[in-house]
Amino acid sequence: MERAHPPRTTRSTTRLRTLRATVIAAIAFGVVALSFDGWYRSTLVKRERERVRASATPFAGALQSSVERRLSRLAGLKTLVETRRQLGDIRAEFDSYAEALSVGVPGVRALQLVDSGRIVATRPSVDSSRLHGYDLYRHPVERVRKDVDRALGTDSIVITGPLELLQGGRGLVARQRVRRAESDAPQLVVMVIDLPAVVSEARAIASAPPSVSITLRDRADSVVDGGATLDDPITVPVHLPDGTWHVDAAPSEGWAAAVASDLRPTRIALALIMALLLWLTYVLFGRQERLTLAVANRTEDLEHANRELQREIHTRQGAEERLRGNDERLRLALVSGRMGTWEYDARDDMVYWSKNAMALLGGPAVDTTEHGADFLRAVPSEFHESIAKAVGEAKRGSRAMSDCRAEFRYTLPDGSERWLYASGELQAGAHDLGDRLVGVIVDITERRHLEEQLLQSQKMEAVGTLAGGIAHDFNNLLTAILGFAQLSQMQAAALDTESRGPALRAGLDELRTDLDEIVKAGERASLLTGQLLAFSRRQVHKPTRVDINGVVREVERMLVRLIGERITLEPLVSSHPLPVLADPGQVAQVIVNLVVNARDALPSGGVIKLRTDRLVVAEGVEPPISGLGVGTWVLVAVEDNGTGMSPEVMARIFEPFFTTKRVGEGTGLGLSTVYGIVTQGGGRVTVQSAVDVGTTVQVALPLHLAASGTAPQREAGALQQQRAAHVLVVEDEPGLRRLVAEILTRRGYTVEVASDGLEALTALDGATTPPDLVLSDVVMPRLGGRALADEIVRRGMTIPVLFMSGYPAGEELPEDEAHTFIGKPFTPDALVRKVRALLERV
Ligand code: ADP
Ligand code: MG
Repeated sequence: MERAHPPRTTRSTTRLRTLRATVIAAIAFGVVALSFDGWYRSTLVKRERERVRASATPFAGALQSSVERRLSRLAGLKTLVETRRQLGDIRAEFDSYAEALSVGVPGVRALQLVDSGRIVATRPSVDSSRLHGYDLYRHPVERVRKDVDRALGTDSIVITGPLELLQGGRGLVARQRVRRAESDAPQLVVMVIDLPAVVSEARAIASAPPSVSITLRDRADSVVDGGATLDDPITVPVHLPDGTWHVDAAPSEGWAAAVASDLRPTRIALALIMALLLWLTYVLFGRQERLTLAVANRTEDLEHANRELQREIHTRQGAEERLRGNDERLRLALVSGRMGTWEYDARDDMVYWSKNAMALLGGPAVDTTEHGADFLRAVPSEFHESIAKAVGEAKRGSRAMSDCRAEFRYTLPDGSERWLYASGELQAGAHDLGDRLVGVIVDITERRHLEEQLLQSQKMEAVGTLAGGIAHDFNNLLTAILGFAQLSQMQAAALDTESRGPALRAGLDELRTDLDEIVKAGERASLLTGQLLAFSRRQVHKPTRVDINGVVREVERMLVRLIGERITLEPLVSSHPLPVLADPGQVAQVIVNLVVNARDALPSGGVIKLRTDRLVVAEGVEPPISGLGVGTWVLVAVEDNGTGMSPEVMARIFEPFFTTKRVGEGTGLGLSTVYGIVTQGGGRVTVQSAVDVGTTVQVALPLHLAASGTAPQREAGALQQQRAAHVLVVEDEPGLRRLVAEILTRRGYTVEVASDGLEALTALDGATTPPDLVLSDVVMPRLGGRALADEIVRRGMTIPVLFMSGYPAGEELPEDEAHTFIGKPFTPDALVRKVRALLERV
């Protein structure tokens, strides 16, 4: 199968991802490095500022003390001016004093005295001519003029400058008021200080490093010294007597340059670290990505394989399910067909039985293996040969199961017997060809029973037809015999015996006795034919609604007498009413016959149980009596604990004249009569028997619930009741025809005869007055009795027809037709009664 791969993650995308991750890492590292760099730089700058401040502060101090030291000389001058007694003294001593005051303090350009704005004395007197008498109020710098006034208004030192000095160069001028009483005394002492000198002195003292630039600003923020524009300078105040000046200091090349050299190695290190980190990121992330790629691809493969597997599992599950379904269907088929499977290995004579097969064999329902010999032990020996033959057939390689089959009886462990059918064939496996057979085993007991029943009922049908035919002809003969015998009796009785001789009288008496015997024997014979007809189900009977329990109660007393004292009768009558549609006399006959048979089977006494019950056979439930259909049945069971029967006897008991009893004791018609009556009533007879254990005969008849309605009365004929006069007798048997004609003639009827239906029709057609009654046999050659009756109706004649017959051709007579029928054999009186009754009806 072609594997459809989804698009895979490729190497180039992996590289792209790695690069992207590295760039992100670079940005992150950059941010970190920059902030570190910024922090480190500001730390360095702070340190640098401290350093710069440390050089600016001594400079400021030095400058301040340098100026103060000079100004202290001015204070000395002031003291001189104020303390000299004479003005003249001041003037006299000024030069030398000023000289002295200047010693040791370089940079004092001049000491002066000012009176009324004019410089009155100056020392050293450089270009003194120009300075002496200079009117400061005329000084070009306005500040100077103002400061002169300011100095006159305060005791503090007032400092002016720096400014371009009159004597050249830049300098400061410090003025202080002096107090003297004389009006022409000088008012101010003045010191002119050379600024560059003072500054360079301070510089020298402070010894500031050359890398630091220093700028000096005066009180008015004018730059006094230095002058370079400083980048964010450190400012230190210089407190001078007339206001605060400021020293600004900063590295000459700027702060950045000052820390640059300290920063550089750190930056290099940082750059290296960053590069290293980036490289590591690239390598590790790349590896990680490749790993992820490999895992992803592997996972994809696995998922694909997994899906394949799932599909396969699904397919397999479907197949398994179908297989299970087949198994289940096979199991159902085997169970419902009462079938099992087997395998036979001829090499070690072992049979394997499936659990279904074991169930048939009456064993535990598990798969079982046993020896062939063990199996055969339960099979009657008469079947061994056919089984061996079937096995041989299979081993010869006959492929058709039907060739290798055997039917046999099998004795179950509980002693009961089943009929089994086994068929098999050679197994297809090559290695054990010829030794291994497989097949099925089927329980065919039911089928065998049905076959036997069918056979039995076919046999009964044949025997019944035979017996019925014989009985019919026999009845005709018997009717004639009995009829003539009875006629002879009547004739003999009518003879006047008194007028005859004694010899003749004695002969006549003998004749009468003989005639009586003939009639008795004839009557016994007629009883027999009656039973035969009952068996062949050709007996006429009148079914009505009978309660079986009622019949049992009626015959009970008679039965007790019949069975004698050594046998106990135990009636077990159901509490339900048990109505059936039957002839009550026949039902009684059935019960009597069964009880008499039971009695005969108990020569030395015993118990006979007579049980009646209701039996409901439901749909799909095996009936307790085989062959019973669905519905409610009435059950009569007669059970004895007598001699019982062998299977061979049991197979024949329903046959007429089959008896195991001695001549004169049994007729062999008891059970055949029962069979005929019950079968005719739509019921069934079953017999269970075991030798020396006893016999149970069960009779089941359909329960009759519907109340039988009374049949509608036939409308009265058109003929008015009149004296019976003319009877047409139709009978094919000449003796009987003669007898009937004789009986009726003697009773005063006009009798006409015909030998069959056609002859009768001819007679009817030719008659001037139709007969009042037609008395006809039923079964006749050419045209039978019923056809004759139909013809009569067809011709529009309303002549009543009375049928006489040995049997009514298997038909039961409807209630309303019973009066138009007389069964053979009959007595002359019975015939005359029937004829009269019919004529009266009409
Ligand atoms: P009969 O009783 O005249 O012999 P049946 O038709 O009544 O004729 O019975 C036929 C045979 O069936 C009997 O001869 C007897 O062998 C056998 N038989 C019938 N009923 C029983 C029974 N209850 N116990 C043993 N055998 C019986
Ligand atoms: Mg009997």
